[in-house]
Amino acid sequence: MTVIDVAIIGGGASGTCAAYHLATKGKNVCILEKNISSLERTCSGGMSAAVQNLFPFKLLPIVDEVITNVEFSWCNTDKVVAELSGSSPFWIVKREKLDSFLLDQALNSSCNLLSTFNVVDIKKISNIWQITALDGRQIEAKAVVIADGSQSPWPKTFNLGPNQQKFASTFSGRIKRKGNLRGETARFEFGLVKNGFAWAFPLSNEVNIGIGTFLDNKNSIPVNEILESFLPDLGFDPSEVIGREKKLRIWNGHYKLNGEGILLIGDAASLCDPFLAEGLRPALISGFEAAKNLIYWLDGEVNSLDAYTKTMQRNWGNSMAWGKRISQVFYRFPKVGYQLGVKRRTAPKRIAQILSGEMSYEDIAKRVIKRLLLQNQSSKS
Ligand SMILES: Cc1cc2nc3c(=O)[nH]c(=O)nc-3n(C[C@H](O)[C@H](O)[C@H](O)COP(=O)(O)OP(=O)(O)OC[C@H]3O[C@@H](n4cnc5c(N)ncnc54)[C@H](O)[C@@H]3O)c2cc1C
Repeated sequence: MTVIDVAIIGGGASGTCAAYHLATKGKNVCILEKNISSLERTCSGGMSAAVQNLFPFKLLPIVDEVITNVEFSWCNTDKVVAELSGSSPFWIVKREKLDSFLLDQALNSSCNLLSTFNVVDIKKISNIWQITALDGRQIEAKAVVIADGSQSPWPKTFNLGPNQQKFASTFSGRIKRKGNLRGETARFEFGLVKNGFAWAFPLSNEVNIGIGTFLDNKNSIPVNEILESFLPDLGFDPSEVIGREKKLRIWNGHYKLNGEGILLIGDAASLCDPFLAEGLRPALISGFEAAKNLIYWLDGEVNSLDAYTKTMQRNWGNSMAWGKRISQVFYRFPKVGYQLGVKRRTAPKRIAQILSGEMSYEDIAKRVIKRLLLQNQSSKS
């Protein structure tokens, strides 16, 4: 059997991004994907345009809507509409379109794809990874990239990622018309969802609806109840939405994301933002960084995979550590958070800056602490 350079398990956003960058550098790469197509993605497709920096080709042709405004509400009232400022706009994509576009870019760069390859076993034998599918097919590779999403069993098998995985309960659905959602506007509703929020993102002729709860996720979310309150305000009947629930693995601490010849990326690496459920940008960043470090490693730099974990910690994890703290306070006291945080004049700008990577949660937290200290001082004097 030929031993390829890298086997990538999962052909979602993170896996296709890593595959593209490895293949363009002449590495022998194969994506192992359990499904035939990626039509059934549970994702609302909100994505900062900052991810354009990760690719030499233009992503705009596959963007459905460029968001210029955000509308916040508390139980459909107390609404605030604000312009999104900041250098990077917010895009809404159809996930099926994004993933198949990235897959095509990887395939055009000589990456291979084995579809209906449902990985059930990964073993390392004399420094070679042997990956087996449910139907018995096998692939051998020098390195393996785990990109199979939130339900991935492999981080635990190889003792990588958080000791305690944390999940948000989510729902994602689509409605086949636009209703009365304002043009180029993303809606965020904070009062109807316990410990979380609901959202509506416009596509060119449709709308993506999402719900996420981030703290107490033992129970499933009362999806129907929330949709019945939220959707009429957008001009929809709840029966119009077609969707499903999913447990989304979210960031829960700094942990090793690599072993010798193995890397975790995307949701399998627990990178998703624990406050806003932003998972596409870290999926693409981790795919890009994993490919970069694997290229060095394949070319003989033995420590370069450790550098992957360090880079993700520095460029993503440090901000998420603050995102987790903010999430725990905000979703426990959401009404206070809505009045004092979301409704602030600067909130849309800050959210845009977070989503584009211009600002980190750490920067935001430090500003808030400074403001509170100043308020405290002036109330004493
Ligand atoms: C309801 C909801 C809404 C969201 N909305 C947003 C949003 O608006 N913006 C945003 O940034 N993020 C959003 N996210 C998060 C985002 O969808 C994820 O972070 C992102 O999909 C991660 O990409 P990935 O490539 O790591 O995993 P995935 O997209 O899950 O891809 C994993 C791939 O691996 C394959 N696979 C799984 N098991 C196997 C196996 N055994 N063998 C082979 N292949 C396998 C799957 O078929 C799939 O193709 C949302 C998530 C949810 C649940």
